[in-house]
Amino acid sequence: MRKVLVCGAGGFIGGHLVKKLKKEGAWVRGVDIKEHEFATSRADEFILGDLTRQNVVEKVLDQPFDEVYQLAADMGGAGYIFTGENDANLMHNSASINLNIIQQAYLKGVRKIFYSSSACIYPAYNQQDPSNPNCAEGSVYPAEPDSDYGWEKLFSERLFQAFARNHGLQVRIARFHNVFGPEGTWAGGREKAPAAICRKVAEAEEGGQIEVWGDGLQTRSFLYIDECLEAVERFMNSNFEGPVNIGSEEMISLNELAKMVIAISGKKLSIYNKPVSYEGVRARCSDNRLIREKLGWAPAKPLSEGLEKTYRWIAAEVAKTVSV
Ligand code: NAD
Repeated sequence: MRKVLVCGAGGFIGGHLVKKLKKEGAWVRGVDIKEHEFATSRADEFILGDLTRQNVVEKVLDQPFDEVYQLAADMGGAGYIFTGENDANLMHNSASINLNIIQQAYLKGVRKIFYSSSACIYPAYNQQDPSNPNCAEGSVYPAEPDSDYGWEKLFSERLFQAFARNHGLQVRIARFHNVFGPEGTWAGGREKAPAAICRKVAEAEEGGQIEVWGDGLQTRSFLYIDECLEAVERFMNSNFEGPVNIGSEEMISLNELAKMVIAISGKKLSIYNKPVSYEGVRARCSDNRLIREKLGWAPAKPLSEGLEKTYRWIAAEVAKTVSV
């Protein structure tokens, strides 16, 4: 039986990944510093542990797993990674996790290891024109990520590549672009734009107003979780190491995203663009030429479909808090 370790199994993508792996018949060990907030983990074993600690990593990575998925990271949306207040923590914690895991995977003879990098590694200077960002895989250098979160991801990509080069580990490095869906963080400061907007719309009263950070003209693309996991599976089953973008090419502005969610809700709401100092780059969109060429993959469905499912789920969560 295929034996799999999922690091970050208590998180959004990790939680969905565990479900998918279990459906496929794998034996799964999950590890996270916290339980999953919204669902009981389907993992065969779920270990609560801090992966910044080497002795914890030695315990959870104690055998030559067929596959390891390294998704654990100290992360959040713009309100967490762009303010500067969390930089020391997120760099120290995520780098420690990655250093521990790759070394232990090598020592235990892990067959294949997946690393979740991010679109945040791309240089800020290529993402200033709202209608024409450059996020092609080869555009990383000269490096100038817009956050320390991005710098850590870039360091860890190189760390994983160095272990592949010097120790023969099979690595698969993906750069996720704004993955969203149900059972992800939707409040508390670490939520990302789609979840935050869904929450604001769900909480708003008919005829009211919702806040969108910045002038709302900044552009992004968003990928629904099921599409993301399909791409990850194809990637893991291929001979291609990456790094490769896993994202959508359907680029829209934040105001357009908010209008889409408002339309899904059926409410009449207006948008207030709140000036903030940490809205991130002006434009970001996945460039899928490489993944199409190497894996024949592209998202199958429009953004609106995934957004509808996500809005329904967040609205139900909001309703629970109101009724408590
Ligand atoms: P998430 O925050 O829901 O999941 C990350 C998990 O890591 C959390 O459950 C967290 O508790 C866990 N973790 C943090 N510190 C830990 C520690 N010291 N020990 C053990 N576990 C720890 O985020 P996600 O959206 O599921 O993202 C998964 C991965 O994908 C992350 O590495 C993230 O950087 C990357 N990524 C995600 C997106 C996205 O849009 N969701 C975009 C780019 C990259």
